Amino acid sequence: MPQNLLDFDLAGLTAWFAERGEKPFRARQVFRWIHQSGVTDFAQMTDIAKSLREKLQSEAIVQVPAINYAHVSADGTRKWLFDVGPGSDAAADQAWRNGIETVFIPEDDRGTLCVSSQVGCALECTFCSTGRQGFNRNLTVAEIVGQLWVAQHSLKTEPNRTTGEIAERPVSNVVMMGMGEPLANFENVVTALGIMLDDHAYGLSRRRVTVSTSGLVPAMDRLAERCPVALAVSLHAPNDALRDQIVPINRKYPLAELMAACRRYLVHAPRDFITFEYVMLAGVNDQPAHARQLIELTRDVPCKFNLIPFNPFPDSGYEKPRAEALRVFREILQDAGYVVTTRKTRGDDIDAACGQLAGKVADKSGRVMKRIHREAA
Ligand code: SAH
Ligand code: SF4
Repeated sequence: MPQNLLDFDLAGLTAWFAERGEKPFRARQVFRWIHQSGVTDFAQMTDIAKSLREKLQSEAIVQVPAINYAHVSADGTRKWLFDVGPGSDAAADQAWRNGIETVFIPEDDRGTLCVSSQVGCALECTFCSTGRQGFNRNLTVAEIVGQLWVAQHSLKTEPNRTTGEIAERPVSNVVMMGMGEPLANFENVVTALGIMLDDHAYGLSRRRVTVSTSGLVPAMDRLAERCPVALAVSLHAPNDALRDQIVPINRKYPLAELMAACRRYLVHAPRDFITFEYVMLAGVNDQPAHARQLIELTRDVPCKFNLIPFNPFPDSGYEKPRAEALRVFREILQDAGYVVTTRKTRGDDIDAACGQLAGKVADKSGRVMKRIHREAA
């Protein structure tokens, strides 16, 4: 099997080169060709000696995940569906293949890419369609970084919709808020983050790369040590009784421990606040009393709130909050001095909103239809 060079950060690539008697600066050149120039064909790496290019051709590849489709929404939001191979439940019947989604959200002053870290998720938050699918597998480094590679290199040839300019680096921000729990795929995510930050690759600022976690406390501490980037914590409830219900990982790491972990993280973080994400579920966690409890809970944690109106999906059992409930909730937090943003829903027409990302790709060979027919018979 040839080695996929997209699986390596610069240290890993340098070590792989060293095993083959190649100097570190050669590894750096190849790394830059791959990530900065978007070149996957060794023959096009013109400043690399022909003998090395030939060696690379026989031992290595640069392989990004296969694109199943790319959609553009009316508001400019883009979504890619990548095919990342057969699903584990499809061993006997290859009807489904694993899919992961990546969303690009263009704004005037930045371009944010929402990146997936796992196929499915084991944590089973009750309002999340990824959680409902269950866990399939962790993404590899190549599959995580590959999402950024595809977005950066396909978007940089296109003019900005408002300004008409061609941006050198259209993706300025990355949020690990796609499918999966990034801290449950710790090593691969940390390696991928390192590549995103590396000046020889994408050179993103630590402040512009955000990991979103549902609250895996020990992994938050390890992230602070290994790769402190901006942190978003999916809070969603102001007390343990409610959070135990809707974010089941809370039974393992309850709120007092989570708040303490947030305070510890801030010692290392590139920003001086934690972003608390709060999905607003009508009648469940959107009452004024919940907002007042949140103020108590987060008293000692410098933070901002990001309120996310629930995005419905079939059979979710939840409803979007009423506009009035959202307004009252926001005002209670704002009156207490908090900075509160309400996430606008983008890319609604292409199902690219939070919690709507799908995890399966229908096998294009038609076996899906055969299976459906068989089951219906
Ligand atoms: N696993 C990580 C990151 C991925 S989810 C986490 O939970 O933080 C990114 C955000 O989308 C999380 O805050 C998550 O709770 C939220 N989300 C999930 N399902 C949603 C839905 N149906 N509507 C709105 N937000 C949702
Ligand atoms: Fe997993 Fe995050 Fe969805 Fe919870 S909200 S099930 S942690 S992806």
